[in-house]
Amino acid sequence: MMFASTRKAFVKYLEVGTSEEKGPDANQQLFVSNLFSFIGYTITLILALSAAIRGNPTLSMSLFAASSVFFFCHHVHRFPQLGNTILISTRLIFTSLLVLMLYLVYSGGVSNTGPLWIYIVPPVAFFFSGLGKGLKSLAAFTIIMTIMLLYPNEVLLGTTYTLEFKTRLIYSFLTVTLLFGFYEYSRQKSYDYIQELSQKNEQLAMRDPLTRLLNRRGMRTHLDHEYSRLQRSKEPLSVLLCDIDHFKQVNDKYFHDGGDFVLESLSAFFVQQIRQQDIVARWGGEEFLFLLPNTNSNDAFLLAEKIRKQVENETIQYKNKAIKVTLSIGVNEVKPNESVDQAINNADHLLYLAKNRGRNQTVASNMFLPEKQTG
Ligand code: GH3
Ligand code: MG
Ligand code: MG
Repeated sequence: MMFASTRKAFVKYLEVGTSEEKGPDANQQLFVSNLFSFIGYTITLILALSAAIRGNPTLSMSLFAASSVFFFCHHVHRFPQLGNTILISTRLIFTSLLVLMLYLVYSGGVSNTGPLWIYIVPPVAFFFSGLGKGLKSLAAFTIIMTIMLLYPNEVLLGTTYTLEFKTRLIYSFLTVTLLFGFYEYSRQKSYDYIQELSQKNEQLAMRDPLTRLLNRRGMRTHLDHEYSRLQRSKEPLSVLLCDIDHFKQVNDKYFHDGGDFVLESLSAFFVQQIRQQDIVARWGGEEFLFLLPNTNSNDAFLLAEKIRKQVENETIQYKNKAIKVTLSIGVNEVKPNESVDQAINNADHLLYLAKNRGRNQTVASNMFLPEKQTG
């Protein structure tokens, strides 16, 4: 019980600066950078105290300074007015880490054990900067460290190491860097692959597998997009709901495969008939929704009639059989003061009227406007 509440408080402490508007990626980065700064300032603080007790004031002061920087990094997110606080904290954490490591190499730390800490640099570098930038900063770090270690007469060192220790330190650091680099490379590769896969799946989920047209879900974003454009631009927008007449009979006569073939053929035909900015989706089993931007009710009616007449006069060739179908269509212009769903419902109502009036016809909303009063 107490453990759970402590854990909760600790997680909350690491979530400093996260917020819903920032999005999951930024929040994750923040959480990890907070975790790094937390680990950074606690470890350096412990080491600073230990160095003070051992009577090494310079090392203690340096560690204490590093600890303060890490502590600041954790709390910089409380000051959003400073700008991109994630960038500030990650850069600051990484730079102070590099400086501290170089200082430990320079001074030797406690009994020349200081250089043991440099192996934490590669994972931190790749985590904060990715492969490319991480490799660059690691190269810079390695060059500076090598010059410091191998400069004649140890002019750039505050302590003495054996030559074997120096060369092995550089070799082992390069090995660890290479291994972490390879790990980061494969991690990035699989991340990209999964990202690509999920994008593909997202695309697939928007389309109907039989006709390759957008499905309801895929059409939704277009409906919302065009509707908000309608409200801004006041350009006309029309929807057209189209249903195949007596489709059950097609299935009965030519079986399900024949029905499928008709759906595929008609879908391909619809795509040919519309303009670039128009969109057609499979709205239901044998029902199609056309979204026609920049089109008023009259033009939408003309398009509907053109499509309907062509389908009426054409035959669909399927396994040496000629299948004939007809369409009933409801045409409705979307008004800015009604929702898209309302507009589609109205189109559905008009389609129902077309069916009731004997099928193979188009019914548009403007057919019911009151006649203009004359005289
Ligand atoms: P109406 O003129 O009133 O629209 O009559 P209808 O027979 O076209 O309408 P109804 O709603 O009674 O039947 C639609 C049929 O469409 C029933 C269903 O089996 C068929 N259908 C729906 N989706 C598919 C599909 O993907 N492939 C095939 N082959 N048939 C489908
Ligand atoms: Mg039908
Ligand atoms: Mg139907």
